[in-house]
Amino acid sequence: GSLLVAEDLHKTYGRTTALDGAGFSIHPGEVVAVMGSSGSGKSTLLHCLAGIVPPDSGTLRYDGQDLVAMTDARRSALRRTEFGFVFQFGQLVPELTCTENVALPLRLAGVRRRAAELTALQWLERLEVEDIGHQRPSEVSGGQGQRVAVARALVTSPRVVFADEPTGALDTYSGERVMQLLTDAARTTNAAVVLVTHEPRVAAYSDREIVVRDGRTRDVDHTV
Ligand code: ADP
Ligand code: ADP
Repeated sequence: GSLLVAEDLHKTYGRTTALDGAGFSIHPGEVVAVMGSSGSGKSTLLHCLAGIVPPDSGTLRYDGQDLVAMTDARRSALRRTEFGFVFQFGQLVPELTCTENVALPLRLAGVRRRAAELTALQWLERLEVEDIGHQRPSEVSGGQGQRVAVARALVTSPRVVFADEPTGALDTYSGERVMQLLTDAARTTNAAVVLVTHEPRVAAYSDREIVVRDGRTRDVDHTV
């Protein structure tokens, strides 16, 4: 069955309607691209699905649980333990090395330094950036930094990865490599990926695409 389901989501900011009856569903291991032009409501949808922004109305179910009704503490715990996040940029802690950045979610979950850093290194290897583990984010390229961000999003073995324009700041080649590594890693671990992008080349890495327009969602059927 579906891991995460949203129905009839509405969200307004003052007089701006961000979501106007949006729906969504994703299965474990599935990669779904959320496409649409700037201002269409993609990020708001992602933030609602991830329990970061509360919808004004509509239903949100994650793994059989009501994401709207649950307590803030429970929602925060879910985000830390079952969700992973990759954003466009500015997400790595500048004072920490790349290895320490990847180890951070494990450290926050109470894993000891040595064990956390060993697991972090394995993820850096998987993303083919183990050689930059000792460097700080400012010392690595944009593409390397995004691979570190992907490693950090996956290090806790989340069941859902939310990626908001993860390749938006990269050149085409690095962007495609990041998408390849992200989707391979997600498929290996059976994580679902909610991928927000306005780039068809990036969406091509998904199993399924939906389009958001004026706060409403529709499925893209490639057979017609
Ligand atoms: P997209 O990700 O597709 O660019 P967004 O979800 O960011 O779209 O935005 C949808 C609409 O809601 C836009 O008109 C945007 O300006 C507005 N919006 C989004 N977030 C906020 C906010 N925090 N405060 C006010 N307006 C917002
Ligand atoms: P953090 O733990 O990062 O501080 P919170 O869990 O406190 O985040 O969420 C911030 C605010 O947004 C809280 O006031 C919470 O009630 C609200 N909120 C977040 N996600 C949802 C959601 N899916 N449905 C309803 N309210 C939400």
